[in-house]
Amino acid sequence: MSDCNCAPNDCSCGPNEDAPWWHRLITTALLNPVFEQQRSIFTNRSLRFEKIKAIGFDFDHTLGIYDCAELDHLAMDLVIEKLNKDKSIPTLSRDDVPEASFARKGLVVDIQEGNVAKIDRHGHVVMAYHGTKPMTSAERREVYGAGDHIPHVTHGDRFVPVDSDFAKPEVLIYSALAAQVDKKDCKRLWQSIRSHTDMIHRDGSLKKELTANPGRFMKADLELIPMLETLRKWGKKLFLLTNSEWYYTKAMINTALGTGKSPDDLSWVKLFDHVVCEARKPGYFMSKKNEGTVCSINSAGVFCGGNTDELESVIGCAGNEVLYIGDHIYADLITSKRSTHWRTMLIISELEEELEIRSGLPGMAMQIKQADDRRLTTEQELHYWRGIERALSHLDENGNADHLHRLRKDCSDRCQKAKDNLKQYIQQREQLRGEMSRALNPYWGSLFRAGSELTYYGQQLEDFACTYTSRASNIALYPERHYFRSSMDFMPHELNSM
Ligand SMILES: [Mg+2]
Repeated sequence: MSDCNCAPNDCSCGPNEDAPWWHRLITTALLNPVFEQQRSIFTNRSLRFEKIKAIGFDFDHTLGIYDCAELDHLAMDLVIEKLNKDKSIPTLSRDDVPEASFARKGLVVDIQEGNVAKIDRHGHVVMAYHGTKPMTSAERREVYGAGDHIPHVTHGDRFVPVDSDFAKPEVLIYSALAAQVDKKDCKRLWQSIRSHTDMIHRDGSLKKELTANPGRFMKADLELIPMLETLRKWGKKLFLLTNSEWYYTKAMINTALGTGKSPDDLSWVKLFDHVVCEARKPGYFMSKKNEGTVCSINSAGVFCGGNTDELESVIGCAGNEVLYIGDHIYADLITSKRSTHWRTMLIISELEEELEIRSGLPGMAMQIKQADDRRLTTEQELHYWRGIERALSHLDENGNADHLHRLRKDCSDRCQKAKDNLKQYIQQREQLRGEMSRALNPYWGSLFRAGSELTYYGQQLEDFACTYTSRASNIALYPERHYFRSSMDFMPHELNSM
């Protein structure tokens, strides 16, 4: 099959540029079999791939996979340099910021209190840090009330959801400084970090560094071109839809695709039927008649700006015939799902690592479920015996004292046994959950789960992503007519009656 002498699962030669598309496709499929869970596509809402006529891709963190450690360091250095000029803010060095895994997508920053929190789908704060110090339950209750509840997570004046990888440096810097300033200054601190971060994006200082050395900041995915070529062979229309500027996209994309070509080589444009830069998502999706959007075409035939109406008319497909793939749950998915009815795929880079860690703890998820099931059953048993105990306490002892005493004693023993078992099962469950959580992320645990509930991020993922996966090129691992089928969802009363 391959001319190289590498082991089948350890080939470092990459695809052969001269080989026909089908040869490269087969090589890719053999190297990354679909049964590797880390590369699977997961389905929330069933999707017949053959019904999809057009597929759109975001660029940053979707086709373009960044080396996040390098990118975060650069962004932090630039922002810290600006912050340190403000004498009202404690001086900071990059060594003072917490390690990268402290900042994750799906967290919420409470800019009024200087906290970073993980919340479940109902808005309950399940974990929180003030600065970098973990908050106790009592401290959380003091701030968020007896229910540990944030009622309006999207309340921009106070709570800021961490939606994208680009937001992580801000969270790391804020956490390093929040505990060092007065509570009343926490909001101003955040606004200052936010405005300096905006500035390094707007004034081009960040992109100047990135475009000067794309290979340092971007990881090539050699499976992207075979995937795009295959989709074209299958008759899909392809488009690139990115908020990044044309100059930036063309400077970075050859590195992302692993072509080895210079930024001046625009042959990659031919991989797509349509390329849109400076799209200004999510506004792009809301703008059926968006008067604020201006569409222009540059010399390479690339569109800048515009709106969904124009795009659908150019590609000749609309609504659920279009699949859009992006990494930003708000800018790429929520608005496109609500406004255009496009089908969606969310790229979650963390998924690959989370699945790998889970696979290294075989059976643990099942053990947690079993411990939880035993807890539920024992809790019901305890309620049952307590009910009997209550009924027995109301009975008159006349003539039946001995018999009643034996019954009460028996009932009390069973209650105690159920209580002991319950305590043991809860301990077991908490121990297993703690082990799993620490393995997944030492600060926050799973991105998707908070105890027995979904996280806020997990709920958004379920609501707005038809499908999700760890990287865009995973599509190449599925056949042309694949049916992405969602697993059956049960309501609590259905589960109870199984
Ligand atoms: Mg993106």
